[in-house]
Amino acid sequence: MVASDPDCIFCKIAAGQIPCHKIYEDEDVLAFLDVNPLSAGHTLVIPKTHNQTLDEVSEDVAAKIGRVLPRLSRAVKQATGINAWNILQNNGSEAHQAVDHVHFHIIPKDADGGLGITWPADQLVSDEAEPLIKLIREALD
Ligand code: AMP
Ligand code: ZN
Repeated sequence: MVASDPDCIFCKIAAGQIPCHKIYEDEDVLAFLDVNPLSAGHTLVIPKTHNQTLDEVSEDVAAKIGRVLPRLSRAVKQATGINAWNILQNNGSEAHQAVDHVHFHIIPKDADGGLGITWPADQLVSDEAEPLIKLIREALD
């Protein structure tokens, strides 16, 4: 973990070096409007410290983000009048992460806009689930 990356656009926003449409700020967390919104009210929530992906974030910082997500969701919901929304958090370019500083999207969803999702779901096979569970449990640190 590095506290700040001089080449990172979200670190620069967190440091006040480049502007943003700020919604909320505390000691550890910043929320601002996405400049290319999928819908009105599309908000980004970031930790002020730099980590590329969620698995690198400390429990302390994760808790600080988690604590404000419900409150920010309520505010976006009330302000936009939209009752449905997605929380999106992309990790890695294959998963559509474009900015390599952990962030959570709050994306209001209505008939006209919001997050489009393809969900090519398969059927979980019990024989495959058991070894997978074992591997994941063993990997928990
Ligand atoms: P992701 O694909 O999850 O990495 O999303 C990155 C998001 O950051 C995109 O939705 C961009 O529109 C948004 N974004 C990039 N630069 C800025 C910026 N300077 N201010 C606000 N949003 C930004
Ligand atoms: Zn950063």
